Amino acid sequence: MQLIDIGANLGHESFQHDFDAMLARARAHGVVQMVVTGASRGGSARALEIAQAHPGFLYATAGVHPHHAIEYTDEADAELRALHAHPEVVAVGECGLDYYRDFSPRHAQRRAFERQLQLGVDTGKPLFLHQRDAHADFMAVMRNFDGRLGPAVVHCFTGTKEELFDYLDQGWHIGITGWLCDERRGLHLREIVRHIPAERLMIETDAPYLLPRTVRPQPSHRRNEPMYLRHIVEELARDRGEPVEVTAAATTATARAFFRLPAP
Ligand SMILES: [Zn+2]
Repeated sequence: MQLIDIGANLGHESFQHDFDAMLARARAHGVVQMVVTGASRGGSARALEIAQAHPGFLYATAGVHPHHAIEYTDEADAELRALHAHPEVVAVGECGLDYYRDFSPRHAQRRAFERQLQLGVDTGKPLFLHQRDAHADFMAVMRNFDGRLGPAVVHCFTGTKEELFDYLDQGWHIGITGWLCDERRGLHLREIVRHIPAERLMIETDAPYLLPRTVRPQPSHRRNEPMYLRHIVEELARDRGEPVEVTAAATTATARAFFRLPAP
Protein backbone atom coordinates (compact mmCIF):
# COMPACT_ATOMS: atom_id res chain seq x y z
CA MET A 1 0.00 0.00 0.00
CA GLN A 2 1.40 3.40 -1.02
CA LEU A 3 0.03 6.42 0.83
CA ILE A 4 0.58 10.18 0.62
CA ASP A 5 0.10 12.33 3.72
CA ILE A 6 -0.99 15.72 2.34
CA GLY A 7 -0.86 17.52 5.69
CA ALA A 8 1.81 16.91 8.32
CA ASN A 9 3.20 19.61 10.60
CA LEU A 10 6.67 18.09 10.69
CA GLY A 11 8.31 21.34 11.77
CA HIS A 12 6.54 20.99 15.12
CA GLU A 13 8.92 20.89 18.07
CA SER A 14 7.59 17.52 19.24
CA PHE A 15 9.29 15.87 16.24
CA GLN A 16 12.72 17.33 16.89
CA HIS A 17 14.10 14.57 19.11
CA ASP A 18 13.26 11.62 16.82
CA PHE A 19 12.75 13.16 13.38
CA ASP A 20 14.59 10.55 11.29
CA ALA A 21 13.10 7.63 13.21
CA MET A 22 9.62 9.14 12.71
CA LEU A 23 10.24 9.35 8.94
CA ALA A 24 11.52 5.77 8.88
CA ARG A 25 8.38 4.54 10.68
CA ALA A 26 6.23 6.39 8.16
CA ARG A 27 8.03 4.72 5.25
CA ALA A 28 7.72 1.32 6.93
CA HIS A 29 3.96 1.89 7.10
CA GLY A 30 3.56 2.69 3.42
CA VAL A 31 3.85 6.49 3.39
CA VAL A 32 5.74 7.20 0.18
CA GLN A 33 5.46 11.01 0.08
CA MET A 34 4.30 13.82 2.35
CA VAL A 35 3.45 17.48 2.10
CA VAL A 36 4.77 19.38 5.12
CA THR A 37 2.37 22.11 6.20
CA GLY A 38 3.69 25.67 6.46
CA ALA A 39 1.36 27.62 8.72
CA SER A 40 3.28 30.76 9.71
CA ARG A 41 6.14 32.91 8.45
CA GLY A 42 8.78 30.99 10.37
CA GLY A 43 6.98 27.69 10.00
CA SER A 44 6.82 27.99 6.21
CA ALA A 45 10.57 28.63 5.94
CA ARG A 46 11.15 25.63 8.20
CA ALA A 47 8.80 23.43 6.11
CA LEU A 48 10.81 24.29 2.99
CA GLU A 49 14.08 23.46 4.77
CA ILE A 50 12.68 20.07 5.78
CA ALA A 51 11.48 19.36 2.24
CA GLN A 52 14.82 20.34 0.73
CA ALA A 53 16.60 17.92 3.06
CA HIS A 54 14.43 15.03 1.75
CA PRO A 55 14.10 15.48 -2.01
CA GLY A 56 11.42 13.42 -3.70
CA PHE A 57 9.98 12.32 -0.35
CA LEU A 58 8.93 15.54 1.37
CA TYR A 59 7.35 18.65 -0.13
CA ALA A 60 6.08 21.80 1.55
CA THR A 61 3.32 24.38 1.54
CA ALA A 62 3.99 28.01 2.40
CA GLY A 63 1.34 30.19 3.96
CA VAL A 64 -0.05 31.78 7.10
CA HIS A 65 -2.78 30.04 9.10
CA PRO A 66 -5.70 32.24 10.20
CA HIS A 67 -4.49 31.90 13.80
CA HIS A 68 -1.40 33.88 12.74
CA ALA A 69 -3.21 36.26 10.37
CA ILE A 70 -2.07 39.25 12.41
CA GLU A 71 1.52 38.58 11.25
CA TYR A 72 0.56 38.92 7.58
CA THR A 73 2.35 42.16 6.74
CA ASP A 74 3.79 43.36 3.41
CA GLU A 75 7.09 41.94 4.58
CA ALA A 76 5.46 38.57 5.26
CA ASP A 77 3.89 38.63 1.80
CA ALA A 78 7.31 39.23 0.23
CA GLU A 79 8.81 36.41 2.32
CA LEU A 80 6.11 33.98 1.21
CA ARG A 81 6.58 34.95 -2.41
CA ALA A 82 10.30 34.23 -2.09
CA LEU A 83 9.55 30.80 -0.59
CA HIS A 84 7.19 30.07 -3.48
CA ALA A 85 10.05 30.51 -5.95
CA HIS A 86 11.32 27.11 -4.76
CA PRO A 87 9.95 24.07 -6.60
CA GLU A 88 9.64 22.09 -3.33
CA VAL A 89 6.85 24.44 -2.26
CA VAL A 90 3.89 22.83 -3.98
CA ALA A 91 0.90 24.72 -2.59
CA VAL A 92 -0.23 28.05 -1.14
CA GLY A 93 -1.41 27.73 2.48
CA GLU A 94 -2.33 26.73 5.00
CA CYS A 95 -4.66 29.69 4.74
CA GLY A 96 -8.32 30.38 5.36
CA LEU A 97 -10.63 31.40 8.19
CA ASP A 98 -11.01 30.09 11.75
CA TYR A 99 -13.84 31.66 13.75
CA TYR A 100 -13.82 28.80 16.24
CA ARG A 101 -10.71 29.97 18.03
CA ASP A 102 -10.57 33.58 16.76
CA PHE A 103 -6.88 33.85 17.69
CA SER A 104 -6.57 36.70 15.17
CA PRO A 105 -9.31 39.31 14.62
CA ARG A 106 -11.71 38.32 11.85
CA HIS A 107 -10.95 41.32 9.62
CA ALA A 108 -7.24 40.40 9.81
CA GLN A 109 -8.09 36.80 8.96
CA ARG A 110 -10.05 37.83 5.87
CA ARG A 111 -7.28 40.18 4.75
CA ALA A 112 -4.55 37.54 5.14
CA PHE A 113 -6.73 35.00 3.35
CA GLU A 114 -7.35 37.35 0.41
CA ARG A 115 -3.68 38.19 0.06
CA GLN A 116 -2.80 34.51 -0.05
CA LEU A 117 -5.48 33.80 -2.62
CA GLN A 118 -3.86 36.53 -4.70
CA LEU A 119 -0.58 34.67 -4.23
CA GLY A 120 -2.39 31.60 -5.54
CA VAL A 121 -3.52 33.55 -8.60
CA ASP A 122 -0.01 34.86 -9.22
CA THR A 123 1.81 31.54 -8.76
CA GLY A 124 -0.87 29.27 -10.25
CA LYS A 125 -0.19 26.82 -7.43
CA PRO A 126 -2.88 24.72 -5.74
CA LEU A 127 -4.40 25.98 -2.48
CA PHE A 128 -4.32 24.27 0.91
CA LEU A 129 -7.31 25.72 2.76
CA HIS A 130 -8.51 25.77 6.36
CA GLN A 131 -12.09 26.59 7.39
CA ARG A 132 -13.60 26.28 10.83
CA ASP A 133 -16.91 27.83 11.91
CA ALA A 134 -16.59 30.39 9.11
CA HIS A 135 -18.29 28.71 6.18
CA ALA A 136 -20.34 31.65 4.87
CA ASP A 137 -17.46 34.14 4.95
CA PHE A 138 -15.11 31.53 3.55
CA MET A 139 -17.39 30.97 0.56
CA ALA A 140 -17.78 34.74 0.08
CA VAL A 141 -14.03 35.37 0.01
CA MET A 142 -13.45 32.47 -2.36
CA ARG A 143 -16.23 33.73 -4.63
CA ASN A 144 -14.30 36.97 -5.17
CA PHE A 145 -11.55 34.92 -6.80
CA ASP A 146 -13.86 32.81 -8.91
CA GLY A 147 -12.28 31.56 -12.13
CA ARG A 148 -8.79 32.79 -11.26
CA LEU A 149 -7.57 30.12 -8.84
CA GLY A 150 -5.94 26.76 -9.41
CA PRO A 151 -7.20 23.59 -7.72
CA ALA A 152 -8.12 23.86 -4.04
CA VAL A 153 -8.33 21.41 -1.14
CA VAL A 154 -10.33 22.09 2.00
CA HIS A 155 -8.06 20.32 4.43
CA CYS A 156 -9.13 18.56 7.63
CA PHE A 157 -12.76 18.62 6.59
CA THR A 158 -15.03 18.15 9.63
CA GLY A 159 -18.12 20.05 8.46
CA THR A 160 -21.70 19.23 7.60
CA LYS A 161 -23.14 17.52 4.53
CA GLU A 162 -24.34 20.91 3.23
CA GLU A 163 -20.85 22.37 3.56
CA LEU A 164 -19.35 19.31 1.87
CA PHE A 165 -21.72 19.69 -1.08
CA ASP A 166 -20.95 23.43 -1.32
CA TYR A 167 -17.25 22.56 -1.69
CA LEU A 168 -17.84 19.74 -4.14
CA ASP A 169 -20.10 22.02 -6.22
CA GLN A 170 -17.17 24.44 -6.53
CA GLY A 171 -14.97 21.63 -7.80
CA TRP A 172 -12.75 21.64 -4.73
CA HIS A 173 -10.95 18.70 -3.17
CA ILE A 174 -11.43 17.38 0.37
CA GLY A 175 -8.77 16.33 2.90
CA ILE A 176 -9.79 13.79 5.55
CA THR A 177 -7.92 13.41 8.85
CA GLY A 178 -8.12 11.10 11.86
CA TRP A 179 -11.16 13.09 12.99
CA LEU A 180 -12.99 10.36 11.06
CA CYS A 181 -11.60 7.76 13.47
CA ASP A 182 -13.25 9.43 16.45
CA GLU A 183 -16.34 7.37 17.26
CA ARG A 184 -17.90 10.40 18.98
CA ARG A 185 -16.98 13.53 16.99
CA GLY A 186 -16.49 11.79 13.65
CA LEU A 187 -19.78 9.96 13.39
CA HIS A 188 -21.49 12.41 11.03
CA LEU A 189 -18.42 12.37 8.78
CA ARG A 190 -18.54 8.60 8.45
CA GLU A 191 -21.97 8.92 6.89
CA ILE A 192 -21.03 11.50 4.25
CA VAL A 193 -17.52 10.63 3.04
CA ARG A 194 -19.00 8.23 0.49
CA HIS A 195 -20.28 11.28 -1.44
CA ILE A 196 -16.75 12.51 -2.21
CA PRO A 197 -15.64 11.45 -5.71
CA ALA A 198 -12.40 9.44 -5.56
CA GLU A 199 -10.59 11.95 -7.76
CA ARG A 200 -11.27 14.70 -5.20
CA LEU A 201 -10.45 12.83 -2.01
CA MET A 202 -7.12 12.92 -0.13
CA ILE A 203 -5.89 11.88 3.31
CA GLU A 204 -3.73 13.57 5.93
CA THR A 205 -2.66 13.02 9.52
CA ASP A 206 -2.34 16.71 10.54
CA ALA A 207 0.40 15.30 12.81
CA PRO A 208 1.24 15.93 15.63
CA TYR A 209 -2.44 16.77 16.16
CA LEU A 210 -5.52 14.52 15.86
CA LEU A 211 -4.13 11.13 16.86
CA PRO A 212 -6.65 8.63 15.42
CA ARG A 213 -8.64 7.06 18.24
CA THR A 214 -8.50 3.73 16.39
CA VAL A 215 -4.76 3.43 17.17
CA ARG A 216 -4.43 0.63 19.75
CA PRO A 217 -2.97 0.92 22.25
CA GLN A 218 -3.08 4.74 22.34
CA PRO A 219 0.49 6.01 22.84
CA SER A 220 0.83 7.70 26.22
CA HIS A 221 2.36 10.88 24.70
CA ARG A 222 -0.72 11.40 22.47
CA ARG A 223 1.46 12.64 19.61
CA ASN A 224 0.14 11.78 16.17
CA GLU A 225 2.66 10.91 13.46
CA PRO A 226 2.51 10.01 9.75
CA MET A 227 2.87 6.26 10.37
CA TYR A 228 -0.75 6.32 11.56
CA LEU A 229 -2.06 7.46 8.16
CA ARG A 230 -3.03 3.85 7.54
CA HIS A 231 -5.67 4.05 10.29
CA ILE A 232 -7.34 6.92 8.45
CA VAL A 233 -7.45 5.21 5.07
CA GLU A 234 -8.79 2.04 6.71
CA GLU A 235 -11.68 3.88 8.36
CA LEU A 236 -12.32 5.84 5.17
CA ALA A 237 -12.50 2.66 3.08
CA ARG A 238 -14.89 1.08 5.60
CA ASP A 239 -17.19 4.11 5.46
CA ARG A 240 -17.11 4.25 1.66
CA GLY A 241 -17.79 0.52 1.40
CA GLU A 242 -14.74 -0.23 -0.72
CA PRO A 243 -11.56 -2.31 -0.29
CA VAL A 244 -8.81 -0.37 1.46
CA GLU A 245 -6.45 -0.97 -1.49
CA VAL A 246 -8.88 0.91 -3.73
CA THR A 247 -9.14 3.91 -1.39
CA ALA A 248 -5.38 3.94 -0.85
CA ALA A 249 -4.54 3.84 -4.56
CA ALA A 250 -7.15 6.48 -5.43
CA THR A 251 -6.14 8.98 -2.72
CA THR A 252 -2.49 8.57 -3.68
CA ALA A 253 -3.19 9.15 -7.37
CA THR A 254 -5.35 12.16 -6.51
CA ALA A 255 -2.69 13.69 -4.23
CA ARG A 256 0.02 13.21 -6.84
CA ALA A 257 -2.08 14.90 -9.53
CA PHE A 258 -3.26 17.70 -7.24
CA PHE A 259 0.18 18.70 -5.92
CA ARG A 260 1.92 17.71 -9.17
CA LEU A 261 4.30 15.36 -7.35
CA PRO A 262 6.58 13.14 -9.40
CA ALA A 263 6.36 9.43 -8.64
CA PRO A 264 9.03 8.63 -6.02
ZN1 LIG B 1 -6.06 23.50 9.46
